[in-house]
This record gives sequence, structure tokens and C-alpha cells, in this order.
Amino acid sequence: MVELKGDCENCAALCCVALAFDKGDMFGFDKAAGQACPELQPDFRCGIHGRLPEAGFAGCVQYDCLGAGQRVVQQVFAGQNWRNTPTLLAPMLQAFAQMRQVHELLLLLQTAGGLPLSEPQKQELARLKAGLQPDTGWTSQTLRLFERSGLAGEVQQFLRELKDVAIKMKP
Ligand code: SF4
Repeated sequence: MVELKGDCENCAALCCVALAFDKGDMFGFDKAAGQACPELQPDFRCGIHGRLPEAGFAGCVQYDCLGAGQRVVQQVFAGQNWRNTPTLLAPMLQAFAQMRQVHELLLLLQTAGGLPLSEPQKQELARLKAGLQPDTGWTSQTLRLFERSGLAGEVQQFLRELKDVAIKMKP
């Protein structure tokens, strides 16, 4: 089963570059998407990690890439990183956004698997999960194809159809 939780040790701080944030309750300053956070250290560690909430960065504590970051770095880019090879930055950020969506859908399907599904629903769940976990792993190219494939829409449609099952379970 794919790890659906962030593992920063095996990532290259993709979230600290990819995401935009606005100064406010969750973040201490504005940052544009695609721009490395000024608190990010050369070794991909956060310079204020031990005091993020106090420094006004509760949003960083709350964010979880759902395992997309380490998978992009280790699987799609074979452990390379954008500091050593700056030309990798744009493709890594693109793959990160796509992989985050894949992992979010997998997490939703994992939750749906706990519902009392009919046999056809179980089969559809298995088909969708298999589509999100290709046997050969993801590559930049297959992630781009995923984006255009309509699979995300199929998962969302399937989850909408399970609404009645979830409602029946409510106490
Ligand atoms: S404050 Fe730290 S955790 Fe938050 S984006 Fe910047 S480097 Fe990353």
C-alpha cells in the first residue's frame, strides 16, 4: 500500500516551494507559489521548525502532502533534487501537484473502503484504486496523462454515488 502521509526526510521540501501563502493567521508573510520559502535551509530543513506556531506559521504544521512529496522525489525523480539541478524545479513542482491529487483520491477511496459496499461497488473501488497505483509506478509522463485521463472525475463520481451508503450508516 502506498504511504499516504508525508515523510519530509525523504522529500526535497517541495511543499515549502510549491505552495503560495498569504500573511495572516496561518502564515507570517506572503509567499508566491513556486518560490522557495526564505526560512528554508540548504539541507531542506525548516529554519524555524521548532517554533512554527509561535512564529505565525501554524499553516505549515497543519499541511500534509499525504506522501506525495517523497514519492515524487524518490520514485519519479530517483532521489534527485531541484537545488542540485535547478532545471528540475518546474517538472518536480508539476509532478508534486499531480501526485498530491492522486494521493488525496487514494485516501478518499481508502475511507470509502470502510463502508458496507455492494459487490459491484467493491469491484469499482478496486478498479479505481488500481488506476491510481500503476504497477510500474508513476513517471512525469504518466502523471501528465493522469491529469487528462478523467480518472479523477470517475473517482469523484463514484464517491458521490456512495453518499446514500454513508448516510445509512449514520447513527
Ligand atoms: S516556514 Fe518552514 S515549513 Fe513553512 S514553508 Fe517555510 S521552510 Fe517550509
